[in-house]
Amino acid sequence: MSTPLITLKSDRVASVAFHHPWLFSGAIEKLPPNLEHGSLVQVADPNGKILGTGTYSKKSSIAVRVFEFGAAELDFDWFIRRITQAHEKRLLLGYGPGTETTGYRVVFGESDGLPGLVVDRYEDVLVLQSSTAGMDALKPVVTEALQKIFNPASIIERSDIGVRREEGLKDEVGVLSGESVTQVEFSENGHRFIADVMNGQKTGFYLDQKDLRSALQPLAKGREVLHLFPYTGATNIYLLKGGAKSIHAVDSSAEALEKCKKAKVTTEVADAFQWLDAHQEPDYDMMILDPPALIRSQKDADDGKKAYHFLNRSALRLLKDGGLFATSSCSHFFELQDFLFMLRRASVQAGVTLDILKVIHQSPDHPLSLYFPESAYLKTVVGVIHR
Ligand code: SAH
Repeated sequence: MSTPLITLKSDRVASVAFHHPWLFSGAIEKLPPNLEHGSLVQVADPNGKILGTGTYSKKSSIAVRVFEFGAAELDFDWFIRRITQAHEKRLLLGYGPGTETTGYRVVFGESDGLPGLVVDRYEDVLVLQSSTAGMDALKPVVTEALQKIFNPASIIERSDIGVRREEGLKDEVGVLSGESVTQVEFSENGHRFIADVMNGQKTGFYLDQKDLRSALQPLAKGREVLHLFPYTGATNIYLLKGGAKSIHAVDSSAEALEKCKKAKVTTEVADAFQWLDAHQEPDYDMMILDPPALIRSQKDADDGKKAYHFLNRSALRLLKDGGLFATSSCSHFFELQDFLFMLRRASVQAGVTLDILKVIHQSPDHPLSLYFPESAYLKTVVGVIHR
């Protein structure tokens, strides 16, 4: 059976011609009749030249996600090659079995030429997340390829993310192969952690912040730290290793905070916004602020920017002179320049000067793609404040 062909408008071919993996519905000139949601398709220019092969969505404004720029058969061998290529990048970066980092992202969707697919590895357990109908349909062949490449103890599915709603999909959580597991031990930069791959947030761990965590370790010596949004406290392990004197961890998830509990760490279940409203004294000499995405789509941008501004301004007031500040945003819709502009205003309003020591991005197992600028989402400013 031949792959259905979608023809693009002549003035809308540039994006795919330069290898951007998304095609919006407005770029389509002609759709084959009765094309099913999630089916494999090829896209062509008006002269019939095949520009890409990918998956089709009837429901999302992203009508086609391109896997290969040209004609291709997305079969078992193709997935073996593409996933192996993605994994080889991680090995080049120094992650993998027998290294100090055995918990890392193996596949980061469009950045690895595998739209709609995330695969995280925690030692010998893989966690798969599919966000599109197209990837849901390809799941059996992807699972088979992962099995062949990694021979993992288990492959767990955690397709329980909000973006699936846009594709009309419900959550899928369970075991795709091997034993059912929940707690998986792994290493990150030589520290040991446990991810709850079945019930934790994301696939059990915020793998994307490992560069931030290691940058903070040498700065923590002797400091009294306020840690807002700590999740299970992975960063605290680095801070304590670096000699932090104490850490106060405030998160809205009681379950996550349970895992933060240890010597020198106090915990408080609270909404961070309300907590900041109730505290004004400059009591801390280090602060970490890593909220969830406060801008999830372009239409929330104005409200979200106000929320970041409130959070940062209130937080900066609580630092002593010479205090260290690490503030993150994981919103793709908040670009670095705008984030810096917000910090400039927030710091002046808080009565401090914030000198930047470092800007840190998502760790490179969440690669930034030249062809998919949307892949850049996480940034953290680490700085020192003066009053
Ligand atoms: N820095 C962490 C990840 C933080 S994720 C790490 O490296 O592991 C964001 C955290 O914010 C989650 O733990 C979530 O439970 C928490 N959270 C979300 N909304 C919150 C709110 N309004 N107040 C406090 N915590 C919140």
